[in-house]
Amino acid sequence: MYDLMIVGAGPGGIFTAYEAIRLNPDLKIGVFETGSPLEKRKCPIDGKKIKSCIHCKTCSIMNGFGGAGAFSDGKYNITNEFGGNLYEYIGEKEAIELMEYVDTINCRYGGKDTKLYVNTDPSIAKKCLQHNLHLLKASVRHLGTDINYKVLENLYNVLKEKVDLHFYTHIDTVEHKDDGYTIRCKDQIFTGKVCVISTGRSGSSWMEKICSSLDIETESNRVDIGVRVELNAEIFSELTDSLYESKIVYRSKKYQDKVRTFCMNPHGVVVNENTNGIVTVNGHSYEDPSRYTENTNFALLVSSRFTEPFRQSNQYGESIARLSNMLGGGVIVQRFGDLIRGQRSTPHRIQGGFTTPTLKATPGDLSLVIPKRQLDDIIEMIYALDEVCPGTANDDTLLYGVEVKFYNMQVKVDSNLETCHKNLFVIGDCSGVTHSLSHASASGVYVARHLYGK
Ligand SMILES: Cc1cc2nc3c(=O)[nH]c(=O)nc-3n(C[C@H](O)[C@H](O)[C@H](O)COP(=O)(O)OP(=O)(O)OC[C@H]3O[C@@H](n4cnc5c(N)ncnc54)[C@H](O)[C@@H]3O)c2cc1C
Repeated sequence: MYDLMIVGAGPGGIFTAYEAIRLNPDLKIGVFETGSPLEKRKCPIDGKKIKSCIHCKTCSIMNGFGGAGAFSDGKYNITNEFGGNLYEYIGEKEAIELMEYVDTINCRYGGKDTKLYVNTDPSIAKKCLQHNLHLLKASVRHLGTDINYKVLENLYNVLKEKVDLHFYTHIDTVEHKDDGYTIRCKDQIFTGKVCVISTGRSGSSWMEKICSSLDIETESNRVDIGVRVELNAEIFSELTDSLYESKIVYRSKKYQDKVRTFCMNPHGVVVNENTNGIVTVNGHSYEDPSRYTENTNFALLVSSRFTEPFRQSNQYGESIARLSNMLGGGVIVQRFGDLIRGQRSTPHRIQGGFTTPTLKATPGDLSLVIPKRQLDDIIEMIYALDEVCPGTANDDTLLYGVEVKFYNMQVKVDSNLETCHKNLFVIGDCSGVTHSLSHASASGVYVARHLYGK
């Protein structure tokens, strides 16, 4: 009988375990993770023998110790303006304090020499506003992919001494018993007094089944569709040198839709992302200057929400991503100039361009994949950004598609992130409450403190 069972070893699960042990070192804690330990997480794509995604049963990029963020850029945004709405449950002040606390832990375990960017330059915000672009306020700790990994390694070394870490253990069911919870995987059963579920985005369909089996209410959430933009780093240097990552929101004139920049990676690389067998695009960058590229990349995303009779926002996003996979065999890349002229990009046109792609994607035509509404929104925002960072709308700016941000449905939890079942908590991205490293981690600390005192 565990005192605390945690399903999922992403940031949410790790920080729940870390804080619980700190508050009460005598607790018997079990963490159950479908993926592997950190050092065994290896994506088989090597660019030589295996060039593209072979759809492994468990994706090493998304699953395993460290969760979806293990190979990410490690940008911990300290803000209530994006990354989730944890503050709606626990209050704005507490949410920020918890994110700051997570930052101190990350610094203690390897991140202390990394930079915390604070968005204080009013001249940039003013310049953006003059072109109907709204710069959101945030502090960003950029760990970088390399230091992020080190921090996880160090946290792993702390936890492995004090917590039972069960890897390759995919939890199939969660049952409520009188004295706690029983969770089952293929050949084992575990019991515990308290159960915290933190299965992230990759566990979204699983979470849906668990909610239905335990009669926990859910609501459909949004899906974000867009492209990853890659351009010469100089073009965005005014923003990235002082802010590192700027979150900018634009309201399109034509549809009045909100379009936003997301996950900006100065001198970074564009990468494939595999979500449940569908290949989409993402990006990251390294803290180590020797690994810098000449390019900066960021996503431009448009949110879509659906109501009756269609509620499956994620399926809508999946269908669009599948279409790009069908036409391009994976991710499609197109020069902005080609898109505007209504012509597909070809390998010849991409090679002849002045921006060298950092991801090997199929040159093609994104207008055959992305719905008109979202594409028009994105093109409008590129022209608006061109006013602030001239060069954004250059012919050679590369657009990779599609980038899709899937969100979990919103799980009904109270202000303690507890479900209608006592001692069953749903935190992190699988709750629909968070969608970032800092918010997911903070939600874990919050629940641990709620359970075991401050
Ligand atoms: C490529 C990439 C880059 C990103 N970059 C950033 C960034 O720079 N900044 C940022 O804020 N966010 C970033 N994100 C998002 C961020 O990684 C997530 O918001 C965060 O990891 C969510 O944490 P979590 O603990 O809720 O879930 P996850 O990190 O997804 O962890 C959930 C874990 O649960 C496990 N699991 C799932 N189902 C089961 C089951 N049934 N049984 C057992 N285990 C299970 C999974 O294997 C996984 O390891 C990025 C995401 C990706 C994919």
